[in-house]
Amino acid sequence: MKREALQNADTICAIATPAGQSAIGVIRVSGRQALNLVQSVFKGNGKLETFQAHTVHHGEVYDPLEGRVLDEALFLVMRGPRSYTGEDVVEIQSHGNPFLLQKILSLLISRGARLALPGEFTRRAFLSGKIDLAQAEAVMEIISSQSAERHQWAFSQLKGHLSQKINALRQKLLYILAQIEASIDFSEEGITFSTTEEMERGVEAILTEIQNILGEYEEGRRIRDGFTAVIVGRPNVGKSSLMNLLLQEDRAIVSPLPGTTRDLLQEWAQIDGTSVKLIDTAGYRETSDFVESEGVRRGEKALETADVALWVLDASEPLQKEDRLLLGKMGCEKRIIVLNKMDLPRRIDLTGIIERYPRDPIISLSVINREGLEELKRSVKASLVAGTERERPLVALVRHRGALQRGELALGRALESIVRKDSWEFLAADLREGADALGEIVGEITTDAILDQVFSQFCIGK
Ligand code: GDP
Repeated sequence: MKREALQNADTICAIATPAGQSAIGVIRVSGRQALNLVQSVFKGNGKLETFQAHTVHHGEVYDPLEGRVLDEALFLVMRGPRSYTGEDVVEIQSHGNPFLLQKILSLLISRGARLALPGEFTRRAFLSGKIDLAQAEAVMEIISSQSAERHQWAFSQLKGHLSQKINALRQKLLYILAQIEASIDFSEEGITFSTTEEMERGVEAILTEIQNILGEYEEGRRIRDGFTAVIVGRPNVGKSSLMNLLLQEDRAIVSPLPGTTRDLLQEWAQIDGTSVKLIDTAGYRETSDFVESEGVRRGEKALETADVALWVLDASEPLQKEDRLLLGKMGCEKRIIVLNKMDLPRRIDLTGIIERYPRDPIISLSVINREGLEELKRSVKASLVAGTERERPLVALVRHRGALQRGELALGRALESIVRKDSWEFLAADLREGADALGEIVGEITTDAILDQVFSQFCIGK
């Protein structure tokens, strides 16, 4: 589908700033009639149509129906194609009063603008070729990113790093496809543009690159969704106290009675600048209490899926049966052994644990006097971002993974068909499918359904 064919003639408007009072509120207007339309409510020196692009003008928003000025405002004029949407855009910066902003919006609608759909400004930016689909998705990711890592990944996608990679792979694939199609067309004259081995190597190389990108998806997903650290240990070793300390506030209930933390408490914490979802599990012990055993079960589940487990032990007591119960249950790949209560005389012997997990870091801690806290944070951060210091993964969105997987399957079939020496028509069909799958990521190949899926996740005004 051609992008231009999807162009919309309406002029759209929306409030671009969040609901609620603020110093400034921004209303965006985009489309062919943007300048005319805003002119009809603009009171100031000169005419918007005569203003240079990318200039700011002070004026008033005037309601001609009520015959009164609504507010003083700044008017930003950006002419297409050098604007976010690629169309003429006017942004009105008024005082950030929700009532006032609604009033200005209604005024613009009464003058002929239409309220924008969610993500419609960005959709227009895509349709006018200002950005590709992966970059449009990056805009949304930047708005919603809550950690430095996620923001960096999203920004790199906005800058086109994923798109460049995908486009390059797609171009290589299309080049091979063109040769095959030419060979099919001119087969009678016996023209072949490439040897079969060359072709096989070419397809194989593209397939390997797709698989490499896919191989980093899990890491990308974790960067996007945030890391999870689960705090485990038998009752009373100081799990809730540790969670509170990491959160710097009293969210979990700390109590000297064993078995108080029955459910999973989850909170986001910033650990050395990285967003980590902390999960405080029920104290680990054998129990007949239904609610409590449910808590233990959920804790086990959390252990299986967490990125790292902080296994808290009470250093002031010898290892107990309930500590040992956990030995075999550490489903999670990475563990940090936290020896808590180091302010008390040490009575723990870690032999069994070290034998089982010889490479796990052991951190001595006293929650009570905060000793060892910094070292623990460093250790948590290191265990989570160790792999991500290298090259950042490119792909973290399910839609992209799906398209890459389809590309992977299609190229796998293409390789098999080369080996089997099938007719080249089959090969060409598989390669075309692979190229289309890659094209969907950047929006070279697209449908209304794909666009609706992508842009419906946006907020109105973006
Ligand atoms: P949980 O059942 O594992 O969540 O343990 P809690 O966090 O509820 O703590 C159990 C008891 O140990 C509470 O009385 C805490 O005050 C105490 N506690 C926690 N950390 C320390 C510590 O580092 N040193 C000492 N002496 N007591 C601690």
